[in-house]
Formats: sequence, structure tokens, C-alpha cells
Amino acid sequence: MTGLPRKIVIIGGGLSGLSAAFYVRKYYKEAGFKPDIVLLEKTKTLGGKIETLHRDGFVIEKGPDSFLARKTAMSDLAKELEIDHELVTTNPNAKKTYILQRDKLHPMPAGLVLGIPTELRPFLRSGLVSFGGKMRAMMDFIIPPRRSSEDESLGQLIERRLGTEVLENMTEPLLAGIYAGDMRKISLQATFPQFGEVERQYGSLIRGMTTGRKPAETHTGTKKSAFLTFRQGLQSLVHALIHELHDVEQRTGTGAVSITARTTNVVNGEPVVTADTSRYEVELENGERLLADDIYITVPNFAAADLLRTHVDVSALDAVNYVSVANVVMAFPKKDIVSDYDGSGFLVPRKEGRNITACTWTSTKWLHTSPEDKVLLRCYVGRSGDEQNVQLPDEALTELVRKDLREIMGITAKPLFTEITRLTHSMPQYPVGHPENIAKLRSELTTSMPGVYAFGAGYDGIGMPDCIKQAKLIAESAAKDLVRDLTNEINPVTGGR
Ligand SMILES: Cc1cc2nc3c(=O)[nH]c(=O)nc-3n(C[C@H](O)[C@H](O)[C@H](O)COP(=O)(O)OP(=O)(O)OC[C@H]3O[C@@H](n4cnc5c(N)ncnc54)[C@H](O)[C@@H]3O)c2cc1C
Repeated sequence: MTGLPRKIVIIGGGLSGLSAAFYVRKYYKEAGFKPDIVLLEKTKTLGGKIETLHRDGFVIEKGPDSFLARKTAMSDLAKELEIDHELVTTNPNAKKTYILQRDKLHPMPAGLVLGIPTELRPFLRSGLVSFGGKMRAMMDFIIPPRRSSEDESLGQLIERRLGTEVLENMTEPLLAGIYAGDMRKISLQATFPQFGEVERQYGSLIRGMTTGRKPAETHTGTKKSAFLTFRQGLQSLVHALIHELHDVEQRTGTGAVSITARTTNVVNGEPVVTADTSRYEVELENGERLLADDIYITVPNFAAADLLRTHVDVSALDAVNYVSVANVVMAFPKKDIVSDYDGSGFLVPRKEGRNITACTWTSTKWLHTSPEDKVLLRCYVGRSGDEQNVQLPDEALTELVRKDLREIMGITAKPLFTEITRLTHSMPQYPVGHPENIAKLRSELTTSMPGVYAFGAGYDGIGMPDCIKQAKLIAESAAKDLVRDLTNEINPVTGGR
């Protein structure tokens, strides 16, 4: 079996596409195939949303800035690429996160997981929820559990068990940074299915989280949450992948526009065996056509839908809305900042009516990102239903952010510089029913377009480790399927390949 050629086209050169190239190359080779991979990227650079800027001694992330350590796919990949020694952790003295409440920053109570209190005392002492709101949250102990395991929104679960105040003052701001979403619309099953299980098993989220088995994937805001990044920024991972994939054809500056299934010629009821048996043809923006045995589609869902629409039902992809956000990074001389920040930043609930949704005190949270006498802040603008400011001209956007920083943190100084990155249609919003919709799409792909796989941030998890995990699992199972198909094909009864 060794050395069987296999033409693979990977569409999309973000982290999903790059890690797919890495694992396809690895697993196909291990399965005895000689992968001939083309990685196609529409823009001029690989890395997708990941982009690090080095400026005046600062390490500035224009897209994602770190990843959850407990989701090990990313650090495993770093190990395989031998760059794990470059991983850095957050400043242990900057554990606190604040939440804005009526113009005042309140520390998030210890033990809060997605707004679910796992330690009652700090929750009951917190100024973030009123006395009535706390009493409402305690009703979680007596409200009967929902028995159905059918999907609902994350907001519905939290509101039903813990009340509106916990949802709006704690859960939603906590998750705004991850999904920029509307909690009342985002699928529970696609994001935190373990909380639905906790409710069913323990009859109460608080009881389940405090006394019983904790869900495998606890979330931001806990002491245990450890984030990691790379000393020189996340682009270190992209560069290491590009370097490692030296034998992969990396084509940038031209996207895929369509996929065509190649029909087998049939003469007298028998398929005609031609020299090239590739199943698909991928047409590029520049008019070129690439032959492919297997195609890995890792572009955002709206772009994937355009490629697949004529072949399968793409309603699962059309149902995922992408929200636009902007990152506004500002640098200041330390002497100009009056407050002494002892945390990683603050979150802004929707009802506060601010321009920013969160602010990371980057130089405090990540000590490697800034010269010692400077401060680096990263502010986020835009969330589901509130995206209009994202496309404002730079000056107007900067002014809105500075207004919030002045009123919330008392910063009146002019920044040394401001770096604005607009990420248009960048945050996928998984709707209720998403996992089931995607499963149906994948099943249709398996039967109608064997060898075509679709995954990435819009499918099974939005975080970078989720994207890598999907690429790894799909490449591994595709390689196994190939071996199985080949074993069936060289069955002597049917006459072999
Ligand atoms: C502002 C922001 C902050 C984030 N912060 C974090 C964080 O801190 N931690 C974390 O874990 N995750 C974070 N994420 C999520 C994470 O960045 C993404 O989920 C991940 O990078 C997505 O990778 P991807 O390869 O699936 O998609 P993308 O990075 O979007 O890559 C898809 C690529 O496909 C290309 N493309 C599109 N159409 C075509 C075509 N027709 N042909 C060829 N190429 C095409 C695009 O140009 C793009 O390069 C953040 C996301 C955003 C937007």
C-alpha cells in the first residue's frame, strides 16, 4: 500500500486549514498514502484570524490572543512542532476579572463558572447581583429540572435556573468575549452541553457544580482557568506550521470558487478506467482547475455554503450568522495611568450601554507583551445586535473607546498609539439545533460527496484548540476510511482497483 498517491486540496489557510494540512500529511503517510497537498488561501497571507504585530517593544495580537490550556489540542500541536518551550502563562498576580455594573468595576466573585456560583459565599457577597437576584438564583435548588435533552439556548438554561440578573450581569458579559453573541440565541448543545447534563443529573446547576462531578469543560472566570500563548505571539504557531509544511504547496492570493464532481465515463455499462481517477475538480478565482481526491473545506460557513450549495443542502451553514467585531489596542506610558490594575481586565454587560464590550489589561495579564514602563490595553467593540460602531472611521472609533476608558478607568492621557483591527463577519453564532444540523450536513456529504469534509470555527467549537482538534480528528478518520475502502477495493472477487 505504501506510496499510493492522493491529491488533496485544503480550502482556507487559517488555523483549521493549516492544522488540517499538518495532520492529513501525518496520518495519510502513516496509512500508506503519498499525500500531494495543495493549501489554498484567498488572501495574501496564511493564518486567517491570527495576526501578531510587533511594534515598539510591544507584542500585539490583532485577532485571538491566547487559548485555554485545558483544551490540549493546541499545546499538543506546539509540542509536535517543537515550539512548546515558547508557551507562556498569564501573570499569576492578575487573576481577578472585573465586571462593570452601573459605572463601577466589581470583582467577579470567586468560583463563578459561566455565572453559576460554585462557591456560595463570594456569590452572596458580590455587588453584581441584587439581593432579589441572589434569592432568585438560589431557587435553582428547588426548580424542577427540564427533562428533555433537546437543544435550547444557553441563555434559556441560565435564566430558567438562575434568573435574568445572573444571565445579564454575569453570564453574558463572561461569554461576550468568546462569542460576541446573544445568549438567548446561542445553542447550549453546541457550546456547553455539559451544563444541560448537570441539570438533568443533579436537578440543580449549583448543586451539580459544587457537590458532584464538575463538567469537564469549566469556563473563564474560574481560578483554575489557565490561558496560554506564545512569547512572540500566536503567529509563532502559524510560522512553525508554514515551515513544517515545506512539502505542501501553499497557494495564497487565490480562493476556490467552485467544486465539481468529475463524472466517471461509462461505456457499455462499465466504468472506463482513466489514468486520473480524481473525484473532484476545484476551480480557482484565477480560472485554474485543481484535481482532488479529497477536499477539506475550512473557510467560514458562508463561504463554505457557496462552494457546496449546488451539491448538498447547506441550510445548516446558512443558519450560522457571523458577527463583526473590532479590536482597539492602545498603548500608554505607565506614568500616565493612575489606577493600579490588579487583574486581567473587565467585562461590560450589554445593559450598561457602553461602546466597548470588554477591556483586557494586556500588559498586566501578559507580562511579555509590553515594555516595563508602558501599559497596553485591548478593547473590544461590537457584539450580536450591536455591530454598528465596528465600521466607524478610525478616529470616531478611537474617540468612543477613549470616552469609555475615561469614564470607567479615569484614563485621560492620549495613547502613544492606537492599533485598530476590524474583523468583519468573524464570530460564528451557533443557533439552537446547530449540532444536529451539522451532523445532517456531514451525513449528506458522506453519501453525496465522499472525501469532502467541512469543519473549522463555524462547526464544532470556536476556540483555536477546537479548530485544531476538529482538523486532527477528521484527518485521522479520513485516513482510516481510506485504508478501509482500499482493503475492500482490492478484494480479489471484484478485481481490485
Ligand atoms: C476577535 C477575535 C478574537 C478571538 N479570540 C480568540 C482567543 O483569544 N482564543 C481562541 O481560542 N480563539 C479566539 N478566537 C477564535 C479563533 O480566532 C478562530 O476560531 C480561529 O482562528 C478560526 O480559524 P479557522 O481556520 O477556522 O478560520 P479563519 O481563521 O477564518 O480562516 C479561514 C480562512 O479561509 C480563507 N478563505 C475564505 N474563503 C476562501 C475561499 N473561497 N478560498 C480559499 N480561502 C478562503 C480566509 O481568508 C481565511 O484565511 C477569536 C476570534 C476573533 C474574531
